[in-house]
Formats: sequence, structure tokens, C-alpha cells
Amino acid sequence: MAELDAIVRYLDTELRTAEVPDHEAAMNGLQLANDGRVTRVAAAVDFSAETVVGALRERADLLLVHHGMFWRGAQAIVARTYDRLRAAILGNLAVYSSHIPLDMHAELGNNVLLAKRLELTPSGSFGRWRGDVEIGVMGTCDLPTDDLAERVRAFSATFGTTAVITPFEPGRRSRRWAIITGAGASLDTLQEARERGIDTFIVGEGAHHTGVDAIESGIVVIYGGHYATETLGVRAAAARLEERFGVSSTFVNSPTGL
Ligand SMILES: [Zn+2]
Repeated sequence: MAELDAIVRYLDTELRTAEVPDHEAAMNGLQLANDGRVTRVAAAVDFSAETVVGALRERADLLLVHHGMFWRGAQAIVARTYDRLRAAILGNLAVYSSHIPLDMHAELGNNVLLAKRLELTPSGSFGRWRGDVEIGVMGTCDLPTDDLAERVRAFSATFGTTAVITPFEPGRRSRRWAIITGAGASLDTLQEARERGIDTFIVGEGAHHTGVDAIESGIVVIYGGHYATETLGVRAAAARLEERFGVSSTFVNSPTGL
């Protein structure tokens, strides 16, 4: 058994919750308290009706998520919003959310962990965000692009997602790659990819026009799925809490298919 306050202090410090810039509505940190004690942590990508039910079924008293409760800003606590909040409170389930702080963490971050999963070794950060913070990672390799695409395809398939890849010539090789999990492909990140000589850009998702921009820039973009690419950080953070606080942990898998 651990104190919720101690876990929150640890996560806030480790993830630099107060310092890392994010969308206002991300509201990183403890979003919902419980009675103050934690014995079991459930990790999930999204705060949703399904992950609350899944966490309670697992007898968790802390739900650790990447996408928290307040994405639409101030909102009335009615209908579905009321139902899931009521279930969490009645179930004594605290909620801690970490968005960009968890994307960019050097050991627990979605980006660094996806690189590792794909057997890529980062040599630096990539993906400018509000000034001098960089969310993603980049590095060099010498691999057939097809192999890299296959690694992402296999990973995404485990979460029910079909990776989408912009067209490329047979025999093409990838030498400079970058990763930004989640909604990583945008005109801004593709501009940065061009500036930094990236030839293969691995993301969760992006708007259709990012594919056109990529093709015209000679960059292959591999869209691995928003959900799949953001499953690693919350699980690593929950595993860290196991080590540090002696609590148990579980992953509540609730794929969106996207
Ligand atoms: Zn995301």
C-alpha cells in the first residue's frame, strides 16, 4: 500500500509535470483524488467509460492515463461525463494524467520507448513544441524502408491497427528517421523533417494532406496509429510505480482502432 500523495509527488517530479508545456486542457497531474491510498495501478491510453470500468474490474485505485479527463476544457458534468466520473468516485479510483511530459520523458516516454520497440537507437530529440521543447526522437540507421514499415505494421497490429505507409520505391533504404507518437504528422513537423534531413518519419497519425506533403518532399511517413504508438509510456510509468512503491499494476487495453 502506498500513499497517493507520495505517488503524485514522485510522478510530478519525475515527469516534470509543472515545467513541460502542454495544451491548457491537458491538465497534467492528479485530476481526481481518492481516499488517499493506492494498492494497484491501472495504466490506460485514454480516460474513458471503458477504461474506468476496466480499472475497477482490476481492483485498481489509481488510473494512470495519457489522455485525461478534460480535453474539451470546462464542461458540464452530465450524461456520459457524469457516468464515468461517478463510477470512478464510487470505485475510489484516482486519476493521474500525463500527456506531453510522458511523450518526451527520456526513459518512460512514448517516443523513446517506441524507438526501442522498433529496434532504433535515438541520437537526439525531434519535434519542436512551443519554444525549445522537443517531443519526439530522431536517429540514424541503414535499413530497407520496407523492414522498418514491417516492424511498425507488426507492432500496430497487436493493437488492432493497420499501419498506413506513404508509397516508396522498392529497395529504398531509410537512413535518417524521426518519431513523434500520437498526432505527430503535421505541416510543421514535416517542415522540420525536411530541415533536418529526415527520410523516414514514424508517427501515430496525421491529416491526409501530410501524405501529399511527404510524397512531394521525398519523405516516407509511417502512420502506426495514435492509440498503438501511445501505449508504451503509461505502462512504463506504471511499472516504475511498482518498483518504487511496491504497488501492483495492470494495463487496461482499450484500442480505438485509430
Ligand atoms: Zn495522443
